[in-house]
Amino acid sequence: MAIGGKLRVVLLASMFAGSGLAALAAQAPTGRIGQPNPRAGAFLNVYDTPAIHIATAERIAGSDLRSVFRLCGTVQVPPVTNNTAEPAKIFDNLYWLGIPSVSAWAITTSEGIIVIDSLDNAREAETYIEGGLRKLGLNPNDIKYVVITHAHTDHFGGAQYLANKFGAALVMSETDWDVLSRAQPPANPNPSRGPIPRRGTGVPDGFRLSLGGTTIEMIQTPPHTPGAISLIFDVRDGAARHVAGLWGAIGFNFQQNEANYTKYAESVDKYAAIAKARGVDVPLANHPNFDLAMEKIAALRTRANGAPHTFVTGAETQSRIFDVQTECALAGRAKLRAAEAR
Ligand SMILES: [Zn+2]
Repeated sequence: MAIGGKLRVVLLASMFAGSGLAALAAQAPTGRIGQPNPRAGAFLNVYDTPAIHIATAERIAGSDLRSVFRLCGTVQVPPVTNNTAEPAKIFDNLYWLGIPSVSAWAITTSEGIIVIDSLDNAREAETYIEGGLRKLGLNPNDIKYVVITHAHTDHFGGAQYLANKFGAALVMSETDWDVLSRAQPPANPNPSRGPIPRRGTGVPDGFRLSLGGTTIEMIQTPPHTPGAISLIFDVRDGAARHVAGLWGAIGFNFQQNEANYTKYAESVDKYAAIAKARGVDVPLANHPNFDLAMEKIAALRTRANGAPHTFVTGAETQSRIFDVQTECALAGRAKLRAAEAR
C-alpha cells in the first residue's frame, strides 16, 4: 500500500513522539494540498511547515528514494564530470539513449521508433540518439516521432536535427509549442544548447499517441513548464508486461511562488491517480540522477536469468515517489509563506 493517509499520520506521530507536536501530528489532515494559507485565515496551520513536510518526505523516501528526496533541497548533488554514456536496452521495446546529465529514450514498435526527448543539441542527438540506436542494432531511419516532454533546451535541443535527418514528426504539448513560439532567440546563443525547433504537432492534455500497436498516454503536469507532459506506456520483459510512467519535468526550477508549488502538488495528484489506474510499476524520469537510470542499467547488465528487472520497482515505490514529490512541493510552498510572513 502507499505510505499515505493513516500510515503517514502514524509516521508523523512516531516522529514527534515525546515532543509537543506528537498529538498534533496524529491529527494531521490527509487532504494536504488545499490547506489554507495561514496568513489568510484566523488560525495557524501547524502541520503545514517546511520542517514537517521535509521530515515526512525524508521518512517516506527511506534509503532507496534519496534521489527523489533531493527535490526538498536539503541534499547536495555532485556535478556531472564525465558526461558520456553507452546506450542500453532496458526492456524488449524500450532503450535508453542518454548521457549522465539528461536522458533520451526510444520505444520500438512494429511500425517504427518513438524517441522521447532529444538531449541538448544536434551533436548529442547525432552521437547518442542516432549513434546509440545504431550501436544497439536499430535503424534511426525508423524514427517516426520525437516526443518532447517540455520546452527546455536539454530536452528539445536535438529535435530539429532528428526531424531534418530522419523526417521525424516533433510532438509536444500545444501549450509548450506556444511557449516556444513566444521565446526570443538569445542574442548570443549557447552553442551547446538548442536550436529551438520549428513548430511541430501540438497535443492536448490526455492525448494518446499510437504507433505499431503501442500507445503513449500524455498527461499534462505543469508548472516546470506550462505544458510539461508525463508519459505512460507499456513495456515488455519477455513474457512479462509492465507499465512505465515517465514524469516529464520533475524539478522545481519554475517561478518561485505559492501558486506554482500548489500547481505542482495538484499535478502529482492528477497524474498519480491515472498512474495508479494504469498500474504503473516502472517509474522513469528524463534525468538519470532522479530515477537512477545509470545505476539500474549497470545492475541490469549483470542480471541473472529469472532475476527481477532492476527498473521494475513496483507500484508502491511509484506511490512513494509521488508522496515525496508532494511533500517537497508543500515544503517549498511553506518556505515561501514563512518568508513572506516575516
Ligand atoms: Zn526542464
